Amino acid sequence: MTALRDEIASIIAQHGPITLEHYMSLCLSHPTLGYYMTRDPFGPSGDFITAPDISQMFGELLGLWAIEAWRAAGAPSPVRLVELGPGRGTLMADVLRVAPVSAPFAQAIDVHLVETSPALESVQRRMLANASRPVTWSGDFKHVPHGPSIILANEFFDALPVRHFVRIDGSWRERLVGLSDDGALVFGAAQHAEPNLRVDAPEGAIVEIGAVALRLMTDIARRIVKERGALLVVDYGYLETSLGETLQAVEGHAYADPLAHPGEADITAHVDFAALARAAKAQGAKVLGPVTQGHFLDQLGIARRAETLSRQANPEQCSDIAAALERLAGSGDAKAHMGEVFKAMAITHPDMPALPGFL
Ligand code: SAH
Repeated sequence: MTALRDEIASIIAQHGPITLEHYMSLCLSHPTLGYYMTRDPFGPSGDFITAPDISQMFGELLGLWAIEAWRAAGAPSPVRLVELGPGRGTLMADVLRVAPVSAPFAQAIDVHLVETSPALESVQRRMLANASRPVTWSGDFKHVPHGPSIILANEFFDALPVRHFVRIDGSWRERLVGLSDDGALVFGAAQHAEPNLRVDAPEGAIVEIGAVALRLMTDIARRIVKERGALLVVDYGYLETSLGETLQAVEGHAYADPLAHPGEADITAHVDFAALARAAKAQGAKVLGPVTQGHFLDQLGIARRAETLSRQANPEQCSDIAAALERLAGSGDAKAHMGEVFKAMAITHPDMPALPGFL
């Protein structure tokens, strides 16, 4: 039992079953009881560990990529350097450390972090207390000031709520979260069919739609096409839109039932890269990739970076660097390697050339 479970149960008791999108957004972002609102879920003691916290190499290479993207955009000054969902702020700290590789870039950037969680915002404020540039926080991308932007999003899109539709009696019905007779949260389906979904599928099939992600991608692509710049998305996801669902809950580094402990487990869905690419192209943006994270980091020179770091390291640090390289860019077993499961995709202004990582 969790406090959020009781609150969700009372919403359902009063207003009827809620959509999966509503359920997921309450689980993650309820103002006081949501998963991200109450804790720092990252790192060995948390529920999961992400690429920037595995090694500084990840953020440094993304920083070099941001410099290249900025140059390709015509080196605008000022330029917004935006990160969506910065977690602990490690990625931005590493990006800002390499920014002076290009002095004009370091002087041009105006740093904006988009974060809904006050708990994580304060972790980020501590992490970036000595940042070389002023940093501004916004709760929503809409509030980031306009102008040319280089935007980074690592493991952000997978945290946005999704909708599910279930094939019942030859029509699609939205998947809802309701209450069983004994008061447990259970999946059900809307009574009305969804007229806009026209895909045929066998009885019981499920389609997953990241409607929030698609709206955000549309807004970002529109801004990039009008005001120049680029967005880099790195996330676990799939390349072709297909039937089926990928909702998953993780609690204490193990998979959990998404309805069991609302607010206590991280709930995500794999990113549908093809759908995001279509949304960006519909606004006139250019799409680079998606490519695997392994390909992307290899091309940005992760092996060379690991070698350079190892030269100044003791034997124990050297083996940590080798392990991080393997974990970030390697393509073995998916649990221990991010190289294949994670993908990188960029959205740019249509006049921009191809960028490193996507060649
Ligand atoms: N990029 C980080 C963290 C990924 S977890 C890393 O790689 O380690 C997802 C992050 O997105 C968290 O910081 C979470 O609080 C934030 N977040 C989730 N939904 C959001 C939303 N709708 N708007 C802004 N931030 C959001």
